[in-house]
Order: sequence, then C-alpha cells, then structure tokens
Amino acid sequence: SDAVSTDDLVAWIRAFRDAVHAHKDELTQLDSEIGDADHGSNMARGLDAVVAKLDPVPATASDLFKTVGMTLVSSVGGASGPLYGTLFLRMGPPLAGDGEADAAALGAALRAGVEGVVARGKAELGDKTMIDALSPALDAWDAAVADGPAAAARAAADAAARGRDATEPLVARKGRASYLGERSAGHIDPGATSATLLLEALRDTLAG
Ligand code: ADP
Ligand code: MG
Ligand code: MG
Repeated sequence: SDAVSTDDLVAWIRAFRDAVHAHKDELTQLDSEIGDADHGSNMARGLDAVVAKLDPVPATASDLFKTVGMTLVSSVGGASGPLYGTLFLRMGPPLAGDGEADAAALGAALRAGVEGVVARGKAELGDKTMIDALSPALDAWDAAVADGPAAAARAAADAAARGRDATEPLVARKGRASYLGERSAGHIDPGATSATLLLEALRDTLAG
C-alpha cells in the first residue's frame, strides 16, 4: 500500500531492535577496532529500553518518535544515544496530524531527523560516521519517492549499505575514531553499520 500507518512505524522500531540484537557482536567488534567496543551494547540497551515503552502502543507517529528519541537520549551514554535520539525526536513533528504517512511525508520526516543529527554532531559526508549511511539513503529515498514507500525504503537501504561500505578506507574526522587519525582507515564505521540496519529494518517492515 502507499500509506504507512503508526503500527507500521512501531513494527519498524521493533525490527530495528531485533536487528541490533542479531548484529550486536558485529557492532561491538567494529567499535573495538576504531573505538571503545561498546556500540553493540549501547544500541541494544537503548533499544531494549525503547521497546519496553511501546506497550501501550503510542497513538500517533509523533508520540512514537518522541518516546523513542527521549528514551535513547536518556538510556545510552555514548555519542550514539544523543545522535539517534535526535534523529527520532526530529522525525516526529513533520508527521504530526496525519494518521498515515505517504512516501513523501516519511521522506520529509527522515530528512528532518538526519538534519538534526548533522546539526548536533557536525559531521559531514565522508567524516566516517553514521551520516555516511544516512545521507545517501535520504537522497535515494527522494529519487524513488514516486514509486511509493516500499520502493523508496528499498532504494534507501541499498544506498545506506553502499555508504557503510564506503566508510572502510576513510580516515575518521568525528567521534572517538578520529582520535586514531590515519589508523582509523581500513575499518568500517560502527555507526554507519547500525544506521544501515535502521534502513534495512524499514525496508523489511514496509515490504510487508
Ligand atoms: P561512543 O563513541 O561514545 O562510544 P558509540 O560507540 O555508541 O559511542 O557510537 C559510535 C558511533 O557514533 C560512530 O561509529 C559514529 O558513526 C557515530 N558518531 C560519533 N560521533 C559522531 C558525530 N559527531 N556525528 C555523527 N555520528 C557520530
Ligand atoms: Mg563506542
Ligand atoms: Mg563509549
């Protein structure tokens, strides 16, 4: 269908939590190479706290994303908590008022979220962060928006994965990995990897 319901968005968040758990050791391994080996546990803890707040199910998309964002900010100590928290907190307001979102509305919400991450973390494309997955995903979403939410999410997930893979040769310029300087090259960024899981969870949820 061309409409994304609040229940679909709740299913997306649950699917993201499940994907983070399934990839928890991989995320931690990646973070052990260029960080402090806690990205898997940070994300798993935060999303467990989020899922605990989804019963009763939030009534609207804006309630949902406010709850998700606030919970991530308050339950994850690392850089990723405030950054993912901001992503979700900024996604809510553009979706306020509508019971269902079309591909354009969901794309606009994602854009607001990613712009919030950039405003907060000051990372640019190529700095070897989650932005390297999120920013190309947004552009791919917009390019496919006329084909509906399921197709847009497929395109966005593919672009995120390419952006994640493209972080490998990069030298980190933001976050803990930047402390390593040139030694950060040759490793995939953990946050770009979890951000790809986020888009893949949306793709899988909207595929029905
Ligand atoms: P910490 O680095 O505090 O231990 P995590 O390990 O949970 O936090 O998260 C690390 C990830 O956060 C990095 O892989 C990177 O993708 C992301 N990140 C760090 N700093 C920034 C930033 N300024 N902007 C965007 N993403 C960032
Ligand atoms: Mg870390
Ligand atoms: Mg840490």
